[in-house]
Amino acid sequence: MEIDIHTHTTYSDGSDLNAMIAAAENAGLSALGVTDHCIVTDDEFGRRATYDLVETYQQRREDIDTERESTELRLYDAAEMSYVEEDESEIAAFLDAARFAYTIGSVHFAGQYNYTSGKQFKDADASQCRTAVERYYDALVALIESELFEVVGHLDLPERIPALRRHTIRADYERVAQALAESRTVPEVNAGRVHRSLGRVHPDPGMFELFTEYGIQFVLGSDSHTPSELSQRIPEIRTLTGIHNLSLVDLQYLTGSD
Ligand SMILES: [Zn+2]
Ligand SMILES: [Zn+2]
Repeated sequence: MEIDIHTHTTYSDGSDLNAMIAAAENAGLSALGVTDHCIVTDDEFGRRATYDLVETYQQRREDIDTERESTELRLYDAAEMSYVEEDESEIAAFLDAARFAYTIGSVHFAGQYNYTSGKQFKDADASQCRTAVERYYDALVALIESELFEVVGHLDLPERIPALRRHTIRADYERVAQALAESRTVPEVNAGRVHRSLGRVHPDPGMFELFTEYGIQFVLGSDSHTPSELSQRIPEIRTLTGIHNLSLVDLQYLTGSD
């Protein structure tokens, strides 16, 4: 079974569920994970106001159920949760109540830093950039150790931001691999920036070997927000996993079902 575990619909910043399903069918996938942004508590960056799956997941669940009647695809009612260390208990309580098929945990911000935009780092010098990147990996390791999530999203996210690019070092990947080796959480190969300035997947394919040495397996996520992104990214991911002979996790492990 081939699944794209990471996509967005109009329940966050993506496209119509129906159109995303059609694109997944055309790409020849057999399953699709719908993972809208989910933010439990307010943050300084205003994302909670934009992404309100916390309030709308039941509505989305009904929509997913309706779509199931007209597609052969296996649809997973899932979520991409923003992880913030201080909010672990709120996150756990919400996940318990919402009962998603699985959850991707993502660090989008930590402390004073917002890693989804370059604004904050435009005038930063090298040591400030490195400090911000280090703060990111502290949060990422805490996310993995929290055991709250099945999947960890776009694990070297700061590399997306030009000012922070190449401030992630091998020791950071090693820390992450070590934490993953002791956790149930699995990383995704995330194609969200293959056709943009980063020009590669997360994590850096140069680090695949390191993760393999630690016995880490992956899941595949296009992180698509539109049908055309999905159509373009799925072939890229297929080629890449073939080239690197990546070991993929059985979906049963992810969802606790078949
Ligand atoms: Zn994300
Ligand atoms: Zn995403």
